[in-house]
Amino acid sequence: MKLEPEKPPITGETLDSLTLRLKEHGEPVFRARQILDWVYKKRARSWDEMSNLPKALRAWLAESFDFDPATLLHGKQSMDITDKLLLELRDRSLIETVIIRAPQDGVGLEHSRKTICISTQVGCAMGCVFCASGLAGLKRDLSAGEIVAQLLHVCYREDARTPRARAELASFDNIVVMGMGEPLANYDALIKALSIVNAEWGLGFGARRITVSTSGLVPKILKLADEQLGFRLAISLHGATDEVREKIMPVNKAYPLAKLIPAVRAFSEKHGRMITLEFILIEDVNDSLDQAERLTEIARDLHAHVNLIPYNTVEGLPWKRPSVARQERFVSVLEDARVSVTLRREKGHDIEAACGQLRLKTERDRAEVSP
Ligand code: SAH
Ligand code: SF4
Repeated sequence: MKLEPEKPPITGETLDSLTLRLKEHGEPVFRARQILDWVYKKRARSWDEMSNLPKALRAWLAESFDFDPATLLHGKQSMDITDKLLLELRDRSLIETVIIRAPQDGVGLEHSRKTICISTQVGCAMGCVFCASGLAGLKRDLSAGEIVAQLLHVCYREDARTPRARAELASFDNIVVMGMGEPLANYDALIKALSIVNAEWGLGFGARRITVSTSGLVPKILKLADEQLGFRLAISLHGATDEVREKIMPVNKAYPLAKLIPAVRAFSEKHGRMITLEFILIEDVNDSLDQAERLTEIARDLHAHVNLIPYNTVEGLPWKRPSVARQERFVSVLEDARVSVTLRREKGHDIEAACGQLRLKTERDRAEVSP
């Protein structure tokens, strides 16, 4: 089986790269914008829909580019707050993209704020012991085109949910890079994809509404701080001391807190924006009062927001979420110290914390049916 698709996906092209390809083919350069307009603004689903392009050009495009590198297998709905899109890539790899709707008082879900959670790798090499995404290691990086295609599939689904005039196509409020994979381990494809998402000829989505979450690859955090586009940063901390963090996140050996914290500080000083510390609460692993106090110190030092997430159990792994009483005890330490903190209490958000599990289940089902 071929790992690389024969044709590059159109969603991996920038205005410059597409212009170049068209020039080489003897086409006028304005065609590049027309084509990208069809992809991102008019949401065409095939080359044939691009009615203002000559037939011969459409045929050449079909030969030269993959229109869509992902096929929607199914979308799982959870209480209507969260939709999970399971996508199959050309090499049959599975990835998922999650739509999270935050209900607002007095308005229906149609008008809720939407956050989209995207994946950057098939599997993950980081080996965090609690995480479903990393259980089978890393299969491969996603290409920029595959990362962008996830967002287009979200657009297709949302457009279908709320049929409107073409000029008012569905959009969303935030993008979080918190799906499968370690985004900063696939740095170049990530930045290319996000710049396509941001570009005015692309999805035109503001960089400040995009959050990149990392397990703590220090050199890449510093590199991200130097990017022109000011993305938001979230750190998967999960342990407030090296002793605890090292037990559950192997990355802490290469980049312990003494290296991670200064890198995060450098990032937030450069961007002047609050960063987020993600902290999954796992029973008897990191939910002690001592951890809460150490976390308070780190959050204060970095002026960071803390997002506490009760652990979502993963089939085959021994970890559990602490009781609600223990969760409340932990959060109150931070609240008493006036740290900006949220604890996810809504059940519908479970799915958000569990990016990776639907794919895992489908991979297992597949393994059971194929000899
Ligand atoms: N690799 C990146 C981004 C993807 S993981 C990172 O680690 O930050 C997105 C978030 O989900 C991380 O904070 C991760 O630690 C968390 N997560 C993974 N498995 C989880 C589980 N079973 N329950 C709750 N959160 C989980
Ligand atoms: Fe990879 Fe993030 Fe899961 Fe760790 S938590 S294994 S870095 S996806």
